[in-house]
Amino acid sequence: MSTSTPAKKEIAAIKGTKDILPGEVGIWQKVEAEAKGLFEFYGYRELRAPVFEATDLFEKGTGETTDIVTKEMYTFTDKGGRSITLRPEYTPSVARAIIEHRLYLQPDPLRFYFIGPMFRYDKPQKGRYRQFHQVDVEVFGEKDPAIDAEIVEMADTLLKNLGVQNAETLVNSVGCRACRPAYSKDLRAHAEKVRDLLCPDCQRKIATNPLRIFDCKVESCREQAARFPKISSYLCRECRDHFTKFCSYLDLFGIPYKVEPNLVRGLDYYTKTTFEIVSSGLGAQNALLGGGRYDDMMKDFGGPDLSAIGFALGMERLISILKIKPEKSKFLYIATLGEAAKTKGIEFARFFRRQGVESLIEFVGRSLKNQMSRANKLGAAWVLIVGEEEIRKGLYQLKDMATGNQNEAKAEDLLKIICDSA
Ligand SMILES: [Zn+2]
Ligand SMILES: [Zn+2]
Repeated sequence: MSTSTPAKKEIAAIKGTKDILPGEVGIWQKVEAEAKGLFEFYGYRELRAPVFEATDLFEKGTGETTDIVTKEMYTFTDKGGRSITLRPEYTPSVARAIIEHRLYLQPDPLRFYFIGPMFRYDKPQKGRYRQFHQVDVEVFGEKDPAIDAEIVEMADTLLKNLGVQNAETLVNSVGCRACRPAYSKDLRAHAEKVRDLLCPDCQRKIATNPLRIFDCKVESCREQAARFPKISSYLCRECRDHFTKFCSYLDLFGIPYKVEPNLVRGLDYYTKTTFEIVSSGLGAQNALLGGGRYDDMMKDFGGPDLSAIGFALGMERLISILKIKPEKSKFLYIATLGEAAKTKGIEFARFFRRQGVESLIEFVGRSLKNQMSRANKLGAAWVLIVGEEEIRKGLYQLKDMATGNQNEAKAEDLLKIICDSA
C-alpha cells in the first residue's frame, strides 16, 4: 500500500478547447440567428456535413502544401484502418457533398451556409482554439464577378447588423492556373536570392509553394515578402477583367474596399478573387473573415466544372469584439409550498408554457421565503405563489417583480395579468 495519496487531478477540458457556458451562449445564439436569417434572405440554404471526413479530401481540397494540411490537422486511423480527419475547414466538405448527391442537377441555386466547429492542431494562444467555430458560406456555379461582390456585401451587412465598427474590406486577385505559374516562378527566383533571411519553414516553401511565404508570421519573412513582386502585374486578361469588374460591382453595392496586393490567403485553392474583412479592434491577426474564389476544386475532385466562391468567419474573434448584450427573457417563477401546491404548480407551469410564457418551477424543497429570494436573484418578471391556502380559496398571489405590485387573482385571470404587463 502506498503511504502518500497522489494529489487528485481535477477533470478538465482538453487543452485548446473551451466550454461555452450558459452565461455567454446568448451572444453565440444571437450571432447564429442573425447569420442564418440574413443568409436565407440572400437565397442560401444550410448544408450540414459530418464533423470528420477521409483525410485525402483535405489533402486534395485544402492543399498539400498549406500550413493547415502539413501541420495542423487532427488526423487519426479509425478501427477500420481508415485515415480520418476532423475537418479543419468546411469548403472541401461542401464540394464533396455537392458531387456525392449531384446537387447540381437540381433546380435550386447552389448557395450554402453552415455554422459549426472546425478543428486545427494549432498552438493554443489567446483567442485561438483547437476546436473553434466558423460561419461558412459557399456558392457554386456562378462565375460572374457580381457574385463575388454580393458575397462581400452580405458579409459586410452581417457585421454591420451585429454592430461591428472599424471594419475594413481588403481585396485582391491571385490569378489562375494560366497566369500564376509565371508569377510563382519569379517569386521563387526572388525568394531564392534572400533565402538566408527567411525562416526554415519559408526556405522549404521556396521549392514547394512560394506563394505560401506570404502566410508566414515571422517578422523577417514578412519584411522580405513585402518586397516580393506583386501578382497584379502578372494577371492574364481574364483574371484582370474579372478583378476590374469585381471592384466596380463593389462600388455598385456601396462597399468601400482597399486593394491589398499581398493578400493571398493561406489556402492553395484560391483563384482570382480573394478578400478579407479586418477589424482594427483585433490587433495584428486582425482578420474577422476571409474568403475567395476557387474555380478548380470541383473538377479536381472529379465533379462537374463548376466555379465557386466562399468565405469563413471566425466566431471566437467576432464575439471577442462584439458589444451587444442579448436581451434577457421575461419569465414566471412559480413558488409552491406543500404537496398539493406542488401538483397545482406543475399544472400552472404546463398551462403557462403552452400559452407562450416561460415558466420556472424548481423541485428542491425550499421554503416559500427562499423561493421568493431565488426568483428575485434569477431576475424573474413575475412570481406566482401557490400554497394550500391559495388552492382552498381559488385565489393566487401574482407579484410583478418590476413594479412590486401584488395581485390576488383567480386562475383564469392570471394569464391576462401577465400578458398585460409583458
Ligand atoms: Zn489568370
Ligand atoms: Zn517564414
